Amino acid sequence: MERLGGEVFDVLVIGGGINGAACARDAALRGMHVAVVERADFASGTSSRSSKLIHGGVRYLQQGDIGLVLESCRERDLLRTRIAPHLVRAQPFVFPIYDDDAVPLWQLRIGLTLYDLLAGLRNVSRHRALSRDEILEVEPALDPSGLLGGALYYDCWTDDARLTIETMMAARDEGAVVLNHAEVVAFERSADGPLDSARVVDRTTGGEATVRARAFVNVTGPWLDRVSKLADPEDAPRLRATKGVHAVFGRDRIGNRNAVVMRGTDDRVMFAIPWQQQTLVGTTDTYYDGDPGAVRADEDDVAYILAAVDRCFPGAAVGRSDVISTYAGLRPLVAPDDARHESDVSRDDRIFESDSGLISLGGGKLTTHRHVAERIVDRVVKRLDRSFGRCRTKDVPLPGGVGVAPSEVDEDFPVGAAEHLTRRYGARAGRVLSATEADANARQRLVEDLPDLLGEVRHAVENEMALTLEDALVRRVQVALRSREGAGQVVDVVARLMGEELGWSEERIAEEVARYRADLANPR
Ligand code: FAD
Repeated sequence: MERLGGEVFDVLVIGGGINGAACARDAALRGMHVAVVERADFASGTSSRSSKLIHGGVRYLQQGDIGLVLESCRERDLLRTRIAPHLVRAQPFVFPIYDDDAVPLWQLRIGLTLYDLLAGLRNVSRHRALSRDEILEVEPALDPSGLLGGALYYDCWTDDARLTIETMMAARDEGAVVLNHAEVVAFERSADGPLDSARVVDRTTGGEATVRARAFVNVTGPWLDRVSKLADPEDAPRLRATKGVHAVFGRDRIGNRNAVVMRGTDDRVMFAIPWQQQTLVGTTDTYYDGDPGAVRADEDDVAYILAAVDRCFPGAAVGRSDVISTYAGLRPLVAPDDARHESDVSRDDRIFESDSGLISLGGGKLTTHRHVAERIVDRVVKRLDRSFGRCRTKDVPLPGGVGVAPSEVDEDFPVGAAEHLTRRYGARAGRVLSATEADANARQRLVEDLPDLLGEVRHAVENEMALTLEDALVRRVQVALRSREGAGQVVDVVARLMGEELGWSEERIAEEVARYRADLANPR
């Protein structure tokens, strides 16, 4: 906060999701003096609540959006092979076709051939047509009745929260001043019009700073209009946000081996996606215009997901008690006025520059964050009218990706501590591992059957700016979403460890535990 208030920045990035992290890293790598502030935790908005796919977008093909497919395939390849090979992994998808599907088998095969062609040399691997019997061999739990055949194709899976946090820490390593739990609450304009400074409140202490910068970037996702309004009160709202809910199940309960393209009860495309030993099923898609911070999965959403699982994997006979956790996110979409249905709203991004000079992003995807950030920072350079270095984010890997070969599908679970850390931290795994060597307890698993280690929490506090129990357990080690009751059984131990690191009093430890438990009662 002292640095924020005391220095003048080339650019202040507002929002610590994937797009904020990518803008901060890009600008810092070009040699700009950058600050980035996030009102809660990094990735606590949409960027930890996605389907976790780095994908070319088969569905965009169906919508005829060839440009978006080409861009997405290119970015998918850069992330998988160069920028984040430890975090972006090949993922096979099984796409079954039934006799009552709107898309016939021949159309699927032509579509996937086109998808392969558009990816060209950047493809993960070419698709393969599968007969009915072959589909049932690779996915025996699928409903066999009416099944005609289908295909196996490839996209990528990522850990969205960790990708965001590592991108943000990389920006910090490049000299950006990075702050979580710090919210922009107002702007001030200079006499001749453009924005001059932003008032930032540190939500952990209540302290305030006036941050002076030459350019301001609003990458607040679902909060886009709220932050724009602070700078340009007359501006019309631009967002048409839709809510997407996922539910987490044990993989053994669903029975899927690969990612599977599912059909909802209303024939919408959905996915069952392996997440280590769990399966992520989603997503819903409904308009939402409430407070972005209050978005939650409700019982209708869960019922919709359970019905889809029941339709595609009837033998699993899943019920409410099989749901390990749920989470809800908002797609920060910008709608043309004539969008007829939620799913018609374009997933493409738009960059706006307002009268006050605020540069804002609407839309966007996890997959295309690097390219979007490049275009935003190009705008900043133009606005500042000064020369900086060229954009280097295509060439410079994230710290954990240095020297790491493109990885394969995560097939074996459970894995030992060393393998688990390599999958999560890549080239930096040795650091985390050696930090756990000094302390026998650090090698302890946080939750039985999950690979996450207690020592990772210490690493998260010391190196990744985790400041609350939720920061650690939901986004950095993520046991909260993958175990029942949000890993409530380890909260006391973790609070004590974080308390030691952060100098919490006994009273503060009790408060943090109580806050975490209260949040658990109110699912994400
Ligand atoms: P966010 O991640 O929401 O970040 C914005 C941040 O700004 C928030 O953390 C917020 O706290 C902060 N903020 C708000 N106001 C302020 C303020 N005043 N001061 C400081 N900070 C502030 N994309 C894919 O590529 N693949 C997928 O599989 C995929 N699946 C998805 C599934 C769902 C259900 C949803 C909802 C989206 C999905 N997406 C996917 C899209 C993708 O997740 C989002 O486009 C992306 O995460 C948006 O990132 P962001 O940084 O723009 O926004």
